[in-house]
Amino acid sequence: MSPMCPEATSGATHDAAPADAAERRAVAPVICYPVASLPAPDMALYAAARATAVPQGQTLVPPRDARSFHVAAGQFFRISCPEGAQVGDLNLFAADDPAERFYSGKTRALHGTHLSVGARMWSCFPYLRPMATITADSLAWYGTDPHGGRVHDVIGTRCDPHTHYLLSGGQEYHHCCHSNLTRALVGQGFAPGVAETMVHDVLNVFMCTGFTADTGQYFMKASPARAGDFIEFLAEIDLIGVLSACPGGDCGTEHSSDAAQCHPLLVQVLAPPPGEMTGWQPPVPNGYSRGHGL
Ligand SMILES: [Zn+2]
Repeated sequence: MSPMCPEATSGATHDAAPADAAERRAVAPVICYPVASLPAPDMALYAAARATAVPQGQTLVPPRDARSFHVAAGQFFRISCPEGAQVGDLNLFAADDPAERFYSGKTRALHGTHLSVGARMWSCFPYLRPMATITADSLAWYGTDPHGGRVHDVIGTRCDPHTHYLLSGGQEYHHCCHSNLTRALVGQGFAPGVAETMVHDVLNVFMCTGFTADTGQYFMKASPARAGDFIEFLAEIDLIGVLSACPGGDCGTEHSSDAAQCHPLLVQVLAPPPGEMTGWQPPVPNGYSRGHGL
């Protein structure tokens, strides 16, 4: 509280609801970012290209660890859990400039708390362009459950050893998604101190989450994914992806420990033949002048 604030001396509080509280609460919400003016992805073109795409390679992500993979613009990548329910924490970087990375917060503001077919993963400022577009989701049927839970969230961050240290009274655990992603980036040649700062808020693939209705707290519940479930993306630009198989497994009990049963994740890259994406171009970085009124 500022010393200039009258409440500092009067002792007044705002605990009591005003007489018009109900009226104030009844004001209708408006959507912060209507997306009708966003250029829509050509999903029919993507579907036709996907139907002709052939495997280019695959990466198996071991439980409680992470791996990186490369996808060229115009190729598809498919994340699946071949052996059982498993949450994945996904980071994306522009392959030619890792300063351009996935922006969970703005993606959430544009597309909502959880992503499915047609939603795009946007990059950070000043680039702010689609990095990937979701083209298929075997869990799209799930919708919203009675607890308000949905799948594939952009509301969590990633499990990390720093929060675990705080909440556990100083315990160390080295296989949180944050550490797994850091090690995978070190494996790409980045120095450990640099790699940790590159890790960013993720798309929580297969994770079922929401906010409690009473306290507004972030919750998780066992993922509805089963062996063979998948989500697919079109890479809109050349990408480095980094995916962690969360130590929480299906995230139905706890994370940041070795307690949960965990499974591997599989990333498959598929490329359409030349000519299948006729008329499509990778999106250019955001056009704002960066003048900022200076
Ligand atoms: Zn995790």
